[in-house]
Amino acid sequence: MKILVINAGSSSLKYQLIDTDNEAVLAKGNCERIGQNGAFIGFKTPDGKKINRKTQMLNHTQAFEAVKNALIDPEYGAISDLSEVSAVGHRVVQGGAYFDKSVLVDNSVINKIRELAPLAPLHNPAHLQGIEACTRVFGPKVPQVAVFDTAFHQTMPEKAFMYAVPYKYYEKFGVRKYGFHGTSHRYVSEKMADLMGRKKEELKLITCHIGNGSSITAVKGGKVIDTTMGLTPLGGFMMGTRSGSLDPSVITFIAEKEHLTPEEMSKILNKESGLLGISGVSSDDRDVCAAEADGNMRAHLAHEMLYYQIAKYIGSYYVALGGCDGIVFTAGIGENQPMLREKVCDYLECLGVKLDKEFNKQATCGVTGTLSTPDSAIRVELIATDEEMVIARDTRAIVEAL
Ligand code: ADP
Repeated sequence: MKILVINAGSSSLKYQLIDTDNEAVLAKGNCERIGQNGAFIGFKTPDGKKINRKTQMLNHTQAFEAVKNALIDPEYGAISDLSEVSAVGHRVVQGGAYFDKSVLVDNSVINKIRELAPLAPLHNPAHLQGIEACTRVFGPKVPQVAVFDTAFHQTMPEKAFMYAVPYKYYEKFGVRKYGFHGTSHRYVSEKMADLMGRKKEELKLITCHIGNGSSITAVKGGKVIDTTMGLTPLGGFMMGTRSGSLDPSVITFIAEKEHLTPEEMSKILNKESGLLGISGVSSDDRDVCAAEADGNMRAHLAHEMLYYQIAKYIGSYYVALGGCDGIVFTAGIGENQPMLREKVCDYLECLGVKLDKEFNKQATCGVTGTLSTPDSAIRVELIATDEEMVIARDTRAIVEAL
């Protein structure tokens, strides 16, 4: 069964066509600058050539048209007819407390995604545009499924998801921890159980998704008991441009001193902080690594802070879980930055973690495997995440049950 996986942002639209029979990625690409000048679609041809095509994309419907044309392109297309696409799976960032699993999109689901837009103003409206444009281009008969970043985290107990602010804000506005990257944490935690040859029900795992956005999750018996991101993806530890959690007074203090509006303050915390804010170099860890190697002390400090914050969260989740059988590193930095894994694991020696330093150095750019030594008290693993595959699998399961 061929499933089209869509990740629609406000000005971009990423897609993958996946054959779920053999889990092969048949086509992959992205539309950029939707609604702006210079819009284009980029995709790889079956023989690996990269194509960038300028196309007018005033809105998401035109972007979907461009995706359709790329999929059935006589020269580069992965399919000959659109009817080969059995269903479409959409990534949706915020599912609130409504969704603890993926669902078939219908009017009530659309209304709930819309209702949750205040909690994810940059994402949920864009996902809805994607869903509506998809209906227009593919027709209403093609089933669409929503897969939520928040769903896997819905098993968190109240004591983990509540904030100690007046209870009325939870009741009035749903102010609580939701968690994000759930699709990735679910994928790597299930894969870890497979690799360990154990049932997920009997495992205590800590999964570290370290990318441009980052989060760590504690998974007990296959269910999330805590995660670092919160009401929004700003919570937790420092990321590419996000601050992570702070003493809340830091925010009111800076806002008062600089006479900032909530929006201006939010921009500083979301776009100008993290690795970028401390290093002053870049939000991209490759640039921060290069600067550190050149002797840039602020780049060095940014890394020292990041390693320390990750290790502290792993330590606290070790206690929350009451022990730990496995730690997983994944996502852009987790999969490609051996130094980060080594420094974090140095902190974890007190928990009996022993890193195979030689293999860890080689484990980058697609090399995955067990990072710990056989006598390590906790198995440490590098697993490449694959959120699109989870979306395709969920979509297939829901469509087959119709
Ligand atoms: P996103 O959160 O946008 O999905 P990614 O998971 O792609 O982000 O992670 C992006 C981060 O991963 C960047 O900081 C980038 O520097 C880092 N990264 C990606 N590839 C490599 C690599 N080959 N070597 C070192 N760092 C990498």
